[in-house]
Amino acid sequence: MRRVTFSRNYTLSLSRTCRCYCKYCAFATHRAHLYAPAEVERILDDAARRGAKELLVLTGEKPEVHPEVAARLTEYGHADFTSYVAWACERALDRGILPHTNLGVCTLDELRRLREVTASQGLMLESVNPDLTVHQGSPTKQPGVRLDAIRMAGELRIPFTSGILVGIGEAPEERVAALEALAAVHGEYGHLQEAILQNFVPHPRYYGAEPAEIADEAQRGHREAGKPLPLPTWADPISLDEMRALVRHCRRLMPDVGIQIPPNLSDWWLPLVEEGATDLGGLSANGDHISPEHPFPRVHRMRKVLAPRGYALTERLCVYPQYLEPRWLEQGVLDVVKARYWSFIPRRGSGRRGNRPIRRDLLNGAVARARDGAPLSPDELTALFGETRPDAIEDMRQAADELRSELAGELVTFVVNRNINVSNVCIVGCAFCGFGQGRRSPDAYEHSEEEFRRRVREAVEFGATEICMQSGIHPDWTIADYERWLRVAKDEAPAIHLHAYSPMEIDHLTGELPLAEVFGRLQAAGLGSVPGTAAEVLHDGVRERISPNKLPVRRWVEIIEAAHAAGLRSTVTVMFGHIEEPWELAEHMRVVRELQERTGGFTEFVPLSFIPFHTLLGRTHGIEEISRDENLKHTAAFRLALGRTVPSVQASWVKMGLDAATEALRWGVNDLGGTLMEESISRMAGSYHGVRLEPDDLIGAAHAAGRPAAERDTLYGIRRRYEVPVAA
Ligand code: SF4
Repeated sequence: MRRVTFSRNYTLSLSRTCRCYCKYCAFATHRAHLYAPAEVERILDDAARRGAKELLVLTGEKPEVHPEVAARLTEYGHADFTSYVAWACERALDRGILPHTNLGVCTLDELRRLREVTASQGLMLESVNPDLTVHQGSPTKQPGVRLDAIRMAGELRIPFTSGILVGIGEAPEERVAALEALAAVHGEYGHLQEAILQNFVPHPRYYGAEPAEIADEAQRGHREAGKPLPLPTWADPISLDEMRALVRHCRRLMPDVGIQIPPNLSDWWLPLVEEGATDLGGLSANGDHISPEHPFPRVHRMRKVLAPRGYALTERLCVYPQYLEPRWLEQGVLDVVKARYWSFIPRRGSGRRGNRPIRRDLLNGAVARARDGAPLSPDELTALFGETRPDAIEDMRQAADELRSELAGELVTFVVNRNINVSNVCIVGCAFCGFGQGRRSPDAYEHSEEEFRRRVREAVEFGATEICMQSGIHPDWTIADYERWLRVAKDEAPAIHLHAYSPMEIDHLTGELPLAEVFGRLQAAGLGSVPGTAAEVLHDGVRERISPNKLPVRRWVEIIEAAHAAGLRSTVTVMFGHIEEPWELAEHMRVVRELQERTGGFTEFVPLSFIPFHTLLGRTHGIEEISRDENLKHTAAFRLALGRTVPSVQASWVKMGLDAATEALRWGVNDLGGTLMEESISRMAGSYHGVRLEPDDLIGAAHAAGRPAAERDTLYGIRRRYEVPVAA
């Protein structure tokens, strides 16, 4: 699965008055054009209402060369246009919208002033050919002048967007030369976050009309799509193959720079994504002001096209994640990011909001005490989850590995099981979930009894000893339905162990009944144990942010305790690698450990890393899949946090892949979970690690780690051992 990004933005064409005369441009005017402050405020209110995260400030170049514009700027209290742009950016920041400015060629001083109030800036290089017909009358379209401006932005540490125009009369080799020139500047300063490959499309002239209004109308679907216009004599037709080659050149020359393709200017954005383009640009809620008759395709349509091909269309900010730090952003801008968009800040192991200090000095003592099974303080646990120093992480690994060896020995266990998600209809709407669907969704399903029986029979034929059964929170199902699924399963497979119904499902089916009665009825129907899912992070603050309709921590604990009191064992899970902070995971582990010390009912701890791709949380909060290294570090921290309370820690191959799960056997893991046979929850969130493994795959993983394997049952009874083969 690969992420393809876009920015949810809104365009403010603050002034279209321009000193240049580029022949391809229908945006610029040589009359006076400037929005008054009250209009700007109204536009920004609209941007905020429409959920924009970015304000794209587009303007003509040096509009104050027009005396009337200069006079109006004076009237508004601004000495020059840059001052007025800065004012508009400040008003955007007040509303929590991040400005990205593109004012044409700016001086060093102008760039510096804009840096104080913008998250990023941009300037197209366009071409390295200094003699293009289209640029006659436009002094700042000289490549040297533009490269100087792009270089100055690098000196000032401004996250920057540039790119080339294709088909404006340049020779094919000049396109590559332009990309080489950009790569050279980027090589010096590292400030290019993306390169735009923009094909020229001819526009009508908009005399007397306002492109912003045409664009907004087109974007709202109130206007006919523009008819293709004939190419002017100075322009060249561009083929898909030529664009593909440019994507390849970009990748070769600037592998760490995003490649942006405007999706409204051609039908070839999809093949170009397949070629390696990474970004579809700013999809303005109020349309494309440069090409106003070309509305942006709807986000959900593009997502539907991309998803089956293995791409997840997700939002980014106008400033790319690697620049979200004080070296690249003014504090005032960073403050807005931290207040509004902190989940876009890459996880660097130490918590993104940084509102709780990580006590690194506690780490060594915490690791030693955890190795001895002692409970750790919240600060010590936070230090484990927030650790970034490689040596300290290696100490954590070794301690976790030793603890695993002491508690679970060398045996690597797994269970032959089958997941059955009976229905994905769900009324809860958790932001991290790609599985649950509204009843009317075309993707909603509900197995018939016949289909359910078939799946149970298939599981038995496969040799499964367990069926793990979880579903969405179906609005029509009562306890009788949940009992019925258990009975049907037992009817088909009397010997099979039914591991079923998350605490959220139990909460839903319970109604007014006492929990003891509920578990009594479910046990009578065949329930064997309970998955400790729906735990996510056992901290109500996190739960309110990612699943506000889900049961609170207190209720989750109450249900699990009731299950244990009824004699049912359960697993316990954590879902990490999303918006949670280290201290919130510390709280999760406190809750888990204390519950286990009270009941002893947990069979195993299952860390589940968040799969972001097809979830609301992943699409809109900039959350990337947790790295393998961070995943392993967390695994060790979970083992250490549990001490001797829960002997078994599982690695989820569905979430992290079998390769990483095998490596996790050195990080405190002793169990590789189940064969699953089908898996909808991670798959629908975009997991690419498959849904089914053969027992031989799991045995092979254990042996690859030099450890014996064993098939176990749900409650850790060993069924069959597989010793490490002796080399011939
Ligand atoms: S996580 Fe469970 S409860 Fe939440 S939306 Fe998904 S299926 Fe429904």
